[in-house]
Amino acid sequence: MKNCKLCGLEKELIKAHIIPEFMYQNLYNEDHRFYEFSVQDILDGKKLKPFVQIGEFDKNILCSVCDNERLGSLEKYAQKVLFGKNLNPNEAPDCQNYELEGFEFSECKNVDYKKFKLFLLSILWRSHITVREKFDSVDLGPHADKIKEMIWNNNAGEELEYPITTTSFIRADYHYKDLILEPRRMRSKEGINSYIFSIGSFQFHFYVNSTNHRLPEFVYEMTLKKDNTMRIIHLKNAMETALIKKLVE
Ligand SMILES: [Zn+2]
Repeated sequence: MKNCKLCGLEKELIKAHIIPEFMYQNLYNEDHRFYEFSVQDILDGKKLKPFVQIGEFDKNILCSVCDNERLGSLEKYAQKVLFGKNLNPNEAPDCQNYELEGFEFSECKNVDYKKFKLFLLSILWRSHITVREKFDSVDLGPHADKIKEMIWNNNAGEELEYPITTTSFIRADYHYKDLILEPRRMRSKEGINSYIFSIGSFQFHFYVNSTNHRLPEFVYEMTLKKDNTMRIIHLKNAMETALIKKLVE
């Protein structure tokens, strides 16, 4: 018996995934393998190797109610939005593609701000509370409890409270699409802290700062919006390689 990190109750804890299993499932090939991207492996010049496992989990963080029901309901929603699973027509995101100043992007309406943002924040928070080595770069400091409270209270906060931007390689000829990248922490010259999670063809970029920090201009435009709009920048072929390089370095 241990204390669940979300509800705080002393309970039997279960094997909880850090990154939900459905996000890996899309990556499995027919042998039920996926390619996991270790930054160290890339730096060492090792060939990528397929893993026969179902992703990273931690037996010491969550009880079954918190994992399966509280976070599980957010995951079910995200699975619909990202992969169209069990989608009924009134839940379907309504996406339009635009090209602006050489960038291609999608604007999707009907993406529930609260559910989708809390889902993404829950991945960030789980990465913080786990002791699994692959998530060592994630240390939210005093923000961890604030984010936990948001998840617990079902409150996604203001748009600029822990804003999240999304890029994708979906429309590029992206040969790293079967990879899950270890989360990376970045700190800009201006002292802005962020984490980037690369999962399949999506990259989710979390900005973890006090609200009095001035964020880069594009974050204001590209973060999830309270009017249930989600914007995604589609990176082109050269940009995907540049981004991967930047993440590895
Ligand atoms: Zn719990």
